[in-house]
Amino acid sequence: MTRHSSLRISVLPGDGIGTEVSAAALEVLRALESRVGGFALAFEEHPLGAACFQRTGSALPEATLRACERADAMLFGAGGLPNVRHADGTEIAPQLDLRLHFELYAGVRPVRALQGLPSPLSSPRAAEIDLVLVREQTEGLFFARGNADVRGDSEVRDTMRITRAGSTRVADFALRLGERRRQRGRPGRVTCVDKANVFTSMAFFRRIFEERARAFPQLATDCAYVDAAALNLVIKPWTFDVMVTENMFGDILSDLAAGLVGGMGMAPSGDIGERHALFQPAHGSAPDIAGQGKANPTAMLLSAAMMLDWLGAQHADAKLAEAGGLLERAVDAAFAAGTLRPIEFGGQSGTADITRAVIAQIGAPAMA
Ligand code: ATP
Repeated sequence: MTRHSSLRISVLPGDGIGTEVSAAALEVLRALESRVGGFALAFEEHPLGAACFQRTGSALPEATLRACERADAMLFGAGGLPNVRHADGTEIAPQLDLRLHFELYAGVRPVRALQGLPSPLSSPRAAEIDLVLVREQTEGLFFARGNADVRGDSEVRDTMRITRAGSTRVADFALRLGERRRQRGRPGRVTCVDKANVFTSMAFFRRIFEERARAFPQLATDCAYVDAAALNLVIKPWTFDVMVTENMFGDILSDLAAGLVGGMGMAPSGDIGERHALFQPAHGSAPDIAGQGKANPTAMLLSAAMMLDWLGAQHADAKLAEAGGLLERAVDAAFAAGTLRPIEFGGQSGTADITRAVIAQIGAPAMA
């Protein structure tokens, strides 16, 4: 008898295009459930974000948090709107609170060129871009959030915090990921990105990475200063495999890297901890295009594929892993013909067109 995984997914659509790309993901996940079989996903939708804050006074209601604690995984759309802010001027960002609450220390940002889409880079080697940026997410410069040392109206200090424990776990995560990718035929190279030439905290981050890397002699490991890494990401991004970096550098470099494959609508992410994980497109709520059916759902669909893959590993369930792989291939195949062109790329394909094309590639349910 085959085991049947029944999993509870907290769906957190949030604000702006978050609601549109979340709806697309649920449609695609339902199609996969019946196509692959052997697992069941119970979707439970919960409010959070800027509109929720305006309505209830809380950007992350207690009931939403408790439901997320009970869930097997979280699927997040986007949180925050530029005109809804805390009193100190910072934006509503419930995803940052979720990262801290669940200690989602590894921000996993895969960046892969899809065939059939134009590249912003002129080199034909741009088609080879296939890298993963791992961003530390519980400390670094983001530690300063809510902890600023404000000295009257003349000075503000934000502190970067780097700990041995935080750096060790994220370095180990990136090295394990490098090893998994090596086994799947990727180069197996892990690059630590820092600013060790200027900051003692960053020299400490690098030292811990180098210590941990000794346990992975089969991997090629190196270190790069963040400024050089930014340059090389633009001029030869195909040379990177796995990169690991501090929170703020990761925030900036992951948007830069998303731009290399066409834009934010192509960039999925997973925020992974020891027991919990949240999957979301790397983009925000994009209020300029919200409610018009223009959002590219690809980043969200690839995030949903990452969720299935992670759930498959957590539950040792091959059907979930198979569904994750099928979704990724369906996205690739939908674009490969070259006729689907997201509005973000100057084309005409809106959220519904892209969702339909991916579902068509997933195909009919397997015969019982
Ligand atoms: P945040 O600060 O929450 O990351 P942001 O305001 O910096 O968000 P995004 O919302 O990520 O920026 O998006 C920046 C711009 O990129 C948007 O205004 C929109 O034009 C475009 N964009 C982002 N995501 C998508 C998408 N999925 N499809 C199409 N265009 C998008």
